[in-house]
Amino acid sequence: MSGTVFIKSGRAKPILQQHPWIFSGAIERVEGSPAPGEIVTVKDSGSNFLARGYWNPRSQIQVRLLTWADEAIDEAWWRRMLRRAFDARPIRTASYMRGDAGKPAFRLVNAENDFLPGLIVDVYDRWLVLQALTLGIDQRKPLLVKLLAEIMHPMGIYERSDIDVRGKEGLTASSGMLWGVEAPPRITIAESYGKPQMLVDIRQGHKTGLYLDQSENRALVGELLSTRISGPARLLNVFSYTGGFGLHALLNGGAHVVNVDSSHEALELAEENARLNGLTGEHGESAEYIQADAFVYLRDMASAGEQYEIIVLDPPKFASSAQQVEKAARGYKDINLHALKCVRSGGYLLTFSCSGAVSRDLFQKIVFGALADSGRQAQIVRHLGAADDHPVALTFPEGEYLKGLLLRVW
Ligand code: SAH
Repeated sequence: MSGTVFIKSGRAKPILQQHPWIFSGAIERVEGSPAPGEIVTVKDSGSNFLARGYWNPRSQIQVRLLTWADEAIDEAWWRRMLRRAFDARPIRTASYMRGDAGKPAFRLVNAENDFLPGLIVDVYDRWLVLQALTLGIDQRKPLLVKLLAEIMHPMGIYERSDIDVRGKEGLTASSGMLWGVEAPPRITIAESYGKPQMLVDIRQGHKTGLYLDQSENRALVGELLSTRISGPARLLNVFSYTGGFGLHALLNGGAHVVNVDSSHEALELAEENARLNGLTGEHGESAEYIQADAFVYLRDMASAGEQYEIIVLDPPKFASSAQQVEKAARGYKDINLHALKCVRSGGYLLTFSCSGAVSRDLFQKIVFGALADSGRQAQIVRHLGAADDHPVALTFPEGEYLKGLLLRVW
């Protein structure tokens, strides 16, 4: 334990409440000369032990806390915490270990929310994808890889640390195989324990390859359609990425799916995904893949009077800081307004925001504003959020970024 970080008087409360971040402004002084990334002990102004975490003077978040007990952060500690993340997803990890659930895809480690700040680990079939968001994690990759291999027995571990926030930690992008057998260019996974199958490009795909946080909401679209009693349904899947929501629709009685995305590569994969699931039109199902700007597309559909039984709006993050919230709100209002106009009376709108800076309350107010201008009526059927492999630590409200509404629109 080479360094001790002393917290300013009156600034210890969030640490005592186990928030995992210490900003530079809360630090009184640092004793010893900890190297960047090293474990430091955190004490209050009266020299009482508070916590222990890893240090990075280059970052605004100078310490990320790992424990509030006076214990060593050694190999056994990391093993214990990875094991805890494993145990927190009992159904998914048990079937992964048995190997009887087809080709699973789930998040194994959700960073701060699994009490492992800066570390993301996603599972795609028998490969793990590791994302190191901070220097403290980046430095410990060899240890983490060893422990993950020991716990998960994967075929291989691939690194996808090419995310912008690493810049704030003084890190550059880093990607490639870390361990084991080279992953194929596309890994086939099966969502919702069997269907649909999807191709995941862990090298070039968004995030670590797939938007795993939406898996339960994608399945919900399937449920909505499988229990529908009236007529063939059309689904407009806006910001479709590789078409996940649409696949669930087509496999559950949806007749026609329109996927809209700005990414050509994502739409290509979406088409391949449909073929992979045998959705080639034999049962009357059909799909379109439209490369377009969703803002323009939705506006055009609304003016053309197009109607869909279900519309999904799953845009990328519009606000990455509090300063961008106002502009983001205008964006959300615009797409929701035009989408609401295009839902057939009695149909559904599933609308999402993954901007952490836009709270659930604010998002609902924005959608309310869009509704008021749309001339429609709507009911909240369900509040939606990230899937259960993306738990949120109660001490870390920042961890809750994905929010959504299932609306019935009249
Ligand atoms: N619904 C998807 C995830 C969507 S992520 C799923 O279930 O997997 C957001 C998507 O929006 C990305 O695929 C990105 O390519 C696309 N996108 C970003 N800006 C866009 C725009 N202006 N118009 C259309 N698509 C856009």
